Amino acid sequence: MIGIFLDRDGVINEDAEYVLRMEDVRFSPRSLDALALLNQVLPRDEARVIIVTNQSGLGRGMCTPQEFALFTGQYFEALRDQSGGRARIDDYLYCPHHPTAGVGEYRIDCACRKPKPGMLLEAKRRHGIDLQKSYLVGDRMRDIMAGQAAGCYSILVESGSGPAPEIDGDITPDAICADLYDATALILERVKNS
Ligand SMILES: [Mg+2]
Ligand SMILES: [Zn+2]
Repeated sequence: MIGIFLDRDGVINEDAEYVLRMEDVRFSPRSLDALALLNQVLPRDEARVIIVTNQSGLGRGMCTPQEFALFTGQYFEALRDQSGGRARIDDYLYCPHHPTAGVGEYRIDCACRKPKPGMLLEAKRRHGIDLQKSYLVGDRMRDIMAGQAAGCYSILVESGSGPAPEIDGDITPDAICADLYDATALILERVKNS
């Protein structure tokens, strides 16, 4: 099973510092088309499309767990409606923790907050994913670090935090694309030729 791991903010919806309310959610038409194309070309018995997102706003107390759950439901409803039912997400993993700014039980140095690969390892367990054949798309270097730590081909997109942010010597993305649509085209090409 191939995993297509997608960061959320800056990849599927436009980035805003903390996206915790529907009024802050904007999907670009190209990201909706990209999801539709992924789903259309890669059937569910071959590939799973999985969101892996740091959501420390929850751990920082910027919303309650109930509000977060409500927002998440609304987010997926909007994604479905705005894509005309074409954009399917198979699983959604998020990390609410923060090692210093988290409140109460959320203040831990967890194994799931990117750049750590914990969410990808959990997805592997849940879905039987071969991480070496899998892909990660993110707009920050911590996404790329998580993807590479798990052994995935990792694509940096410039649609969120801008052109090639903070690339340092040790970590280089496997590819850099303008946005999720271009990243999807690259992924589909690689899968076809593998
Ligand atoms: Mg992001
Ligand atoms: Zn975590």
